[in-house]
Amino acid sequence: MQGSNSSGRILVVDDVPANVQLLTTYLKTVGYQVIPARDGEEALALVREAKPDLVLLDVMMPKLNGFEVCKRIKSDEATQYIPVIMVTALNDIEDKIKGQEAGADDFISKPFNKLELLTRVKSLLRIKSLHDQLAEKIAELEIAKERLRQLAITDGLTGLYNHRYLKEFLKRELERARRHRLNVSIVMIDIDHFKHYNDTHGHQAGDELLKMIARLFKDNIRKIDLAARYGGEEFCLVLLETNRQSAAIVAEKIRNLIDAYPFPNEETQPKGKVTVSMGVASFPEDATDYENLVHIADQRLYLAKERGRNQVVVEDFVGENV
Ligand code: GH3
Ligand code: MG
Ligand code: MG
Repeated sequence: MQGSNSSGRILVVDDVPANVQLLTTYLKTVGYQVIPARDGEEALALVREAKPDLVLLDVMMPKLNGFEVCKRIKSDEATQYIPVIMVTALNDIEDKIKGQEAGADDFISKPFNKLELLTRVKSLLRIKSLHDQLAEKIAELEIAKERLRQLAITDGLTGLYNHRYLKEFLKRELERARRHRLNVSIVMIDIDHFKHYNDTHGHQAGDELLKMIARLFKDNIRKIDLAARYGGEEFCLVLLETNRQSAAIVAEKIRNLIDAYPFPNEETQPKGKVTVSMGVASFPEDATDYENLVHIADQRLYLAKERGRNQVVVEDFVGENV
């Protein structure tokens, strides 16, 4: 955005070539770059394309005059911070008033006084450069802020959302579901005999398994749904606009997928494969607030473990699975 050769690019607009030539000569003696324009239309196009650091703008031009050009530069968000010096006839006070109304930053009279011209150009370029530096810092801050926000809501190992964000998201979605009479389901998931996998293959292999399983969750839900790491080797899916019956189908599909998925070294697991247990709970069928919904899904997950793992529990009583 800034830098030595972009901090002095000046658009010189005049319908008289001799004027452009003279101004160019003056400006080049002190090392500025000059972009010439012969009329208002061309000037506006160049302002948008080349984003000069300053515009030296003649007032008297056929078709689009300098006031109109200045107004347009100053009313476009992308160009409004480019300083404009209007070139007026000597001591024409009316032109100066009109120019000021059009948003001009300074004035210079014909015939040009070289020293005066260069002084004004230099001081406006200094302001422009400060503005550019500030804009750059603000943009950097915005990026850093967004990165921090992402970090704060993401689980470092799996890249899924973390517990904190799950809570925020689910509470918000439950509110929305209440207002619009929608369904929301959650699926609590826990890896079966994960400790055994860890103990057999090491903590790092355990981490890799967590990442692979997290990926499978992410890849098998819709964009509007959410997958979060609830903690340790426990996960939670939030399925929007999904009733309990449909959630059961989704959960069963994912359970089945993990059952069949060839995880590394899974043959050492108690049942010869890596599996998960799941508990489903839905708004409004099971509960209407966050705490109870999570509690019921947790209870059903516990039930799935009790019943032998690698299964989905959708209702409380025994025997009723998917
Ligand atoms: P169950 O089928 O009853 O769920 O048995 P389990 O072994 O999966 O459950 P348990 O609660 O006994 O053990 C969970 C293990 O998960 C213990 C803990 O060390 C491990 N663990 C938790 N977080 C992480 C992690 O981030 N990385 C790794 N590698 N292991 C983790
Ligand atoms: Mg003219
Ligand atoms: Mg477990």
